[in-house]
Amino acid sequence: MEWESSSKAMLLGAVTCGLYLHYALWGELLLIQDADNHWIDQAHLASQLRWFYGFSFTSLLLIVGTYLVRQLKGDLVLFEYIASLYFGLSLCYFSYQVGTLSLPVGAVMVGAPVVGFIFFNRAAVMLALFLSMLVQLALSFGAAWQWWPYAPMFHNTQGAMSSASPFVVFHMYFYTLPHMVFLITASYLVLRRWRDREEKVRLLSITDPLTGLFNRRSILVHLDQEQERSRKKGPALSLLMVDLDNFKSINDDRGHEAGDFALIAAADALQKSLRQNDRVGRYGGEEFLIILPGTDLEGAQTIAERCRQQLESTDVILAKGDRIKLTGSFGLVCNEGDVRMGVDEMLRRADRAMYRAKDGGRNQVVVDHMHGAA
Ligand code: GH3
Ligand code: MG
Ligand code: MG
Repeated sequence: MEWESSSKAMLLGAVTCGLYLHYALWGELLLIQDADNHWIDQAHLASQLRWFYGFSFTSLLLIVGTYLVRQLKGDLVLFEYIASLYFGLSLCYFSYQVGTLSLPVGAVMVGAPVVGFIFFNRAAVMLALFLSMLVQLALSFGAAWQWWPYAPMFHNTQGAMSSASPFVVFHMYFYTLPHMVFLITASYLVLRRWRDREEKVRLLSITDPLTGLFNRRSILVHLDQEQERSRKKGPALSLLMVDLDNFKSINDDRGHEAGDFALIAAADALQKSLRQNDRVGRYGGEEFLIILPGTDLEGAQTIAERCRQQLESTDVILAKGDRIKLTGSFGLVCNEGDVRMGVDEMLRRADRAMYRAKDGGRNQVVVDHMHGAA
């Protein structure tokens, strides 16, 4: 989709060239194998084969012409207009030969615009679609009013079409096959790419770019969900608020970049200390929020202490061999006494406990007052 217009035009040229050679091969085989075929007008087919080759050759010219003009003029949207128009209008010729109301024509009329709108300039596709549809309509009604034959390639069209003879069915599928392969492959690739991108965007939207942890918004969403679950189903929920100690001095003494580096190390240390269902997010600059689902106060204290020790034992080694020591102050709240405690209340209590940890000398875990602990 990010290709230059000229590259897309050349690709379409290559596709049409292959397609028309596939049709020419079909014609050649029929002329060799089925002398006096009941369904095919062989004289007509023989007279038309040069057109089949002519269209293949024109596709090649389109590729070469696009390449040469690009060398002179650079990339132009015009290439997409020419390629789409050529694709649509040249297919009208084949559609006329095998019947404008046949299976391959239906496949192309439905599939090509869809793929076209995804890959190509929309106005170019619209124009090609509009003009090809006009020609298709004219060809169909002209045949209906018997101004010209319907499906001149086939004898006995009405019998062939209405009784769906095996011969006609096979050859209709032969014509349809390359379109189906191309259209299905193209839509598969495009949809896969969209899904990959969607997943990337989703991850970007929930991740903090520096630390790779959940960002503030997504950690709060998790907290809401866990609080709701705890309220409905009962298991206790614990919440830890962590603020790194004296972080400003790291920035002041070693520079902001070293500060960033230390933040990443702190995030890793916290994550390492948690269990699979625990969640840690970056709540603010150097503040983290840790959600411990299904965890009572005692269990949460053990985990908080593990986090504190892990942080304390983390050596951040800078480029020049400089080391930074990290510590954090932890505020812990658990809703085991009151599972109806709201998210805002839990956050307020965790924050208050964290400030008491700062007041108490930092590098410690303090449990919220409600639990009667210090
Ligand atoms: P305290 O122990 O009281 O928490 O002291 P402190 O210096 O950590 O104080 P405070 O929490 O108020 O300061 C936070 C500092 O964290 C201020 C800011 O410069 C720094 N900071 C916040 N976000 C970032 C960041 O993304 N990168 C870097 N390098 N520093 C940050
Ligand atoms: Mg802070
Ligand atoms: Mg701090």
